[in-house]
Amino acid sequence: MVRFALLVYHRKPMAQDLRTYLDLVKRTRPDDFVVVSREIDPVHELTALVVKLDREGHRRPVLLFEKVKGTAFPVLTNLHASRARLALAINAEPRRVLQTYLRAMERPIPPQVVPTGPVKEVVRRGADVDLKSLPQIVHHEGDSGVFLTSAISFARDPTAETWNCAYNRLMIRERDTTGIHLTLGKHLWEFHRIAEARNEALPVAFVIGAHPAIALGALAIGSVDEDERAIMGALLGEPLELVKCETSDVLVAAHAEMVIEAEILPHARMAEGPFGEFTGYSLGERQREVVKVKAITHRRDAMFQDITVAHLDHMLLSTIPMEANLYRAVRAMIPSVTAVRVPAPFTCYVSIEQRIPGQGKNAILAAFGADLYMKRVVVVDHDVDVFDDRQVNWALATRCQPDRDITVITHARGSDLDPSTPQDGYTAKWGVDATAKPSLGQFTPRHRVPPDVWARLRLGDFLP
Ligand code: MN
Repeated sequence: MVRFALLVYHRKPMAQDLRTYLDLVKRTRPDDFVVVSREIDPVHELTALVVKLDREGHRRPVLLFEKVKGTAFPVLTNLHASRARLALAINAEPRRVLQTYLRAMERPIPPQVVPTGPVKEVVRRGADVDLKSLPQIVHHEGDSGVFLTSAISFARDPTAETWNCAYNRLMIRERDTTGIHLTLGKHLWEFHRIAEARNEALPVAFVIGAHPAIALGALAIGSVDEDERAIMGALLGEPLELVKCETSDVLVAAHAEMVIEAEILPHARMAEGPFGEFTGYSLGERQREVVKVKAITHRRDAMFQDITVAHLDHMLLSTIPMEANLYRAVRAMIPSVTAVRVPAPFTCYVSIEQRIPGQGKNAILAAFGADLYMKRVVVVDHDVDVFDDRQVNWALATRCQPDRDITVITHARGSDLDPSTPQDGYTAKWGVDATAKPSLGQFTPRHRVPPDVWARLRLGDFLP
């Protein structure tokens, strides 16, 4: 049964509508929006084109593929592959993205339930659900099948009013069945474990095609009690509008392009993977949870969104929320923290203005306490630019004694996608205090030419 809803929602363009944002991109950054009319194969070609355009063409525009083989849905991709575009989405100056994100975490705006929205224009349920009608995108060589990479989950703790949003990759198995990767130890995994202990399925809805502020909010890292939907609202500057699902009480973004209504089954597992992940590795097959799809709702002319895994579209999006949370956590311990950067998987660099001995080590502890994924934390003094790998390496080489300054934490929980762990995510962690000891002030001085010479010397006086 396919139902076309009456258009009772307001037609006022909302800031939280992906299309409003795309119009803004087209208007203010016209080179950043490219439409591809020629038909493309979703098996490898689509991913290859996005990556090749970056590596050989040095371009990272939003791409809209109008004709994708085997589906009626156009594919929107590369939406997040530019820091300037993400800044535009949250109304931030490109250099103030972290601060804007932090402010949203500190001053969340609760969501608002509305009667209906554009995502209800087409409702397909029961026998009309067909995941195979969606673009069947295969990203990398060796992937075990078709993966949905842009699905944002919305779910509630079965025993409380605690809501969670997250990105979870879905592997299509049948027309109404997928596998799901629930990061071990994280919030949606916890909700599912609670439901499973009660022999219940966990109702969930997945948004496909969302405003980048919604994407950034979904990736907020914090306590399970922090509501990502309210962080989305703060990033958007207005309450996120939610509608109730057709087949459950789950509330989901009203202005999405598409929503997949589903449940994660109890006591069911299926083979999922291998899949080329953000780590840069194609990670092996595992037994993972099973999703049963109850309904798909979408706009009449819905765009399907894809995220090229491990590419900038993915990495920029995820590191901004990570850096904001790490900065918040380190700042709670060391008020004079100056910068935080996540330069590689499971890694962060922190710079601090160290006022008393021991703060370097405390920064390490704070970063590990704030983010499950962190495995290596490097702390440097504030005269080192953490956005310059050469400077960080210089500090590691010249201010650090490994026997004194490396702290190893054994038998902890990290990312289940770290291929070096003996069991998925059961890991050791290391912190490196590369600050000068006993203090930067007492350390051997850095050399420089005298400042008065530097100031008076003019290149033009000596060189043509
Ligand atoms: Mn959460």
